[in-house]
Amino acid sequence: MAYRAEYIWIDGTEPTPEIRSKTRILADGETPGIWGFDGSSTNQATGDNSDVVLQPAFQCPDPIRGGDNILILCETLLTTDMSPHPTNTRAAAVAALETYSDQEPLFGLEQEYTLLDPITQWPSGFPPGGYPGPQGPYYCGVGYLKIHGRDLIEEHTTACIDAGLAISGTNAEVMPGQWEFQIGPVDTVTVGDHVWIARYLLYRLAEAHGVEVSIAAKPMKGDWNGAGMHTNFSTKAMRENYDAIIAAAESLGAPGKPEEHLLGYGVGIEERLTGAHETQRYDQFSYGVSDRGASVRIPWQVAKDQKGYIEDRRPNANADPYVLATLMTNTVCAALS
Ligand code: ADP
Ligand code: MN
Ligand code: MN
Ligand code: MN
Repeated sequence: MAYRAEYIWIDGTEPTPEIRSKTRILADGETPGIWGFDGSSTNQATGDNSDVVLQPAFQCPDPIRGGDNILILCETLLTTDMSPHPTNTRAAAVAALETYSDQEPLFGLEQEYTLLDPITQWPSGFPPGGYPGPQGPYYCGVGYLKIHGRDLIEEHTTACIDAGLAISGTNAEVMPGQWEFQIGPVDTVTVGDHVWIARYLLYRLAEAHGVEVSIAAKPMKGDWNGAGMHTNFSTKAMRENYDAIIAAAESLGAPGKPEEHLLGYGVGIEERLTGAHETQRYDQFSYGVSDRGASVRIPWQVAKDQKGYIEDRRPNANADPYVLATLMTNTVCAALS
């Protein structure tokens, strides 16, 4: 029987790239090879030289269609010499992992996101023309007035498990309509593959729920939490001794490093990293045990065990996981080698 492969790629939308996909029908037993698309419609090419190559990179079962159907996350390549397209951020993650694979880097990303009412474009749970009660009861809450969209979140979690993604948890967040899922711990490339596919599944499933998903960093101005993508990171040495934990945290504060990292941590970082709402200011760097107001947190358990991982709290929800995993791997692994 014929089956369907959904070719998924990351486009050239500015300032935050978006997901595109199209369906290819394959004969029974036929393997999905390279394909292409019209880059002039995705801000990835000009009309007179519009073709961009889709190179299959990561494949998993399609949990929505079921059966033999699959999802294929692709790298984009230039037709001229089959080199990575300028918008292809996965290629650099592959290179970083190749360079430092002996240190066995592992990531756990906490993807926060906000469900939006399609009419008001405000978060689910914000009454039309007004505001819900202040933040406090919503984080990890339960109950009709506190929780908005749980059916979608449950469906999404099941889909991620069925696709074989390394989803490790979910929770309702501090602002109404805001949620989180975690992917990890997996390596520098896999974490990007799994976060992008998990995002695809979320947007796709939300279509049938009549809500829009936003990964904007500060969807509501004012006294409402922004949305981040906390990046938990370890190497083999960090999982074995505390000196490596401290050296890793120090390496992120070395001269020039905070600025370099913030450039890859997503759009609107100054709006979210204000020093309030469990953040450190974007123009200051600090690390500390248990400190949710620091740029980098060493979890309490890690200080107690004298080994484990660090949490970089700075990345925005709208960051590209390939970009931040590449930065983190290159900076910390270089310092630890
Ligand atoms: P928080 O307390 O900050 O909300 P979460 O439970 O949401 O933390 O996320 C913690 C993440 O850290 C999970 O995705 C988990 O897989 C990941 N993690 C756990 N151990 C490690 C490790 N040694 N290296 C990297 N990531 C890890
Ligand atoms: Mn979390
Ligand atoms: Mn969170
Ligand atoms: Mn966190």
